Amino acid sequence: MEKLIKGLREFQSSYYCAHQDLFAQLAHGQKPRVLFITCSDSRVDPNLITNAQIGELFVIRNAGNMIPPYGATNGGEGAALEYALQALDINQIIVCGHSNCGAMKGLLKLNELEEKMPLVYEWLLQAEATRRLVKENYSTITGDKLLEITIAENVLTQIENLRTYPIVHSRIRQGKLTLHAWVYNIESGGVYAYDPIRHGYVTPASPLEAVEPEELIHPENEHARWLSAAQCDRIYRGSYS
Ligand SMILES: [Zn+2]
Repeated sequence: MEKLIKGLREFQSSYYCAHQDLFAQLAHGQKPRVLFITCSDSRVDPNLITNAQIGELFVIRNAGNMIPPYGATNGGEGAALEYALQALDINQIIVCGHSNCGAMKGLLKLNELEEKMPLVYEWLLQAEATRRLVKENYSTITGDKLLEITIAENVLTQIENLRTYPIVHSRIRQGKLTLHAWVYNIESGGVYAYDPIRHGYVTPASPLEAVEPEELIHPENEHARWLSAAQCDRIYRGSYS
């Protein structure tokens, strides 16, 4: 605690002093560009890993970077999501998982948690879609590799959960919102973004590839009309089936 109190003083005398104009501006309101959804893990710092300024990221954090499907719970996630899109007009959402995630380790041995950590157990039931998908599709994989896969698949599950929210569904259809799936590797400091074309995680490009809903990227779907030429080109190269 002493270290934190000292830190408060140091923040005032150094960072705050050097950025007084920014703080004066932010005191009147926020205009973050991105909703960043990540894990509560102390080793993940959204602003640090993206080199973002204060005021640039609107953040939702919980164990396992989860967004329960629309209507599943009445927790804070849905409210924060709605505020981010409706009040702040944010048009980019990043779901960022991370290596060595304790919540995902827990998900892989869920039954052991029921007695020791009943609240964690209850919360992780929200990730049943991830647990089941991993159990049924990666039955021959074990250990660290299975954990890595669970982390990556869980981020994609949360992207699907986001799409169950009416406001997300509607904004995507209007082309006003893009979703991005990231995994942060603690050891290397690197971030990998999900590439729906290659169905894998790659180094994020600029501009970021959005995870497009499948019905919008299928070439035979009438809604595919609004896609850019580059996107259509990718589709017709047969990346999607
Ligand atoms: Zn975690």
